[in-house]
Amino acid sequence: MTQAEGIRAMVERIEAAIGVAEPRPPSPVLDTLIACILSQHTSDANSGRAYATLAARYPTWAEAAEASEGEIEAAIRCGGLAKNKARAILKVLNAVRDADGVPDLEHLRTMADDDARAYLLRLPGVGPKTAAIVLCFAMGRPVLPVDTHVFRVSWRLGLIERRLGEARAHEALGAIVPSDLVYRFHVCLVRLGRSICRASKPACTECPISDMCRFAHP
Ligand code: SF4
Repeated sequence: MTQAEGIRAMVERIEAAIGVAEPRPPSPVLDTLIACILSQHTSDANSGRAYATLAARYPTWAEAAEASEGEIEAAIRCGGLAKNKARAILKVLNAVRDADGVPDLEHLRTMADDDARAYLLRLPGVGPKTAAIVLCFAMGRPVLPVDTHVFRVSWRLGLIERRLGEARAHEALGAIVPSDLVYRFHVCLVRLGRSICRASKPACTECPISDMCRFAHP
């Protein structure tokens, strides 16, 4: 079995055990980027509430870009770390508006993956993980977001070395995960990492891919 076939088998087994991910409908690129900033260091529920209050207060990103940092902070307070996130959101909105005339990123859809990624990485505060989330979730591109769960499960499985770190794992995993599996691989490893392959104590006896895992079978 090739490595690509092994990864496909892992995804299929995890899906059979934990459930198949619903395809994610494409969403506006800038919406996804702002939602990603709001999701940092908080729960999905809190960041969802913060996004909803921000969107209700500012129906367009052009209106939000005219707001003060304090006003944005007040609108997203329920999401935690509101001061830092308000600053980050305004920096992104202003950078996009200054570059393109309006705070809108839909033109990225016409770009090749590498060009769109490079554009995103030039925005203030946008790193490899955020860029990958935007490319994968908003634009349906085969670019793998590596969060703490994807990184931990991947090194435990033996797909990458732990010493690489999360940032360099994007490139390493991107090179071995078949492009048609990227989204499913991401969802599967996040779900496995949250439910079974937890950071503190992996429940290997409950794991649907324990026979394929280097951590369980060193
Ligand atoms: S066998 Fe254990 S360490 Fe390996 S992926 Fe499953 S839960 Fe994680």
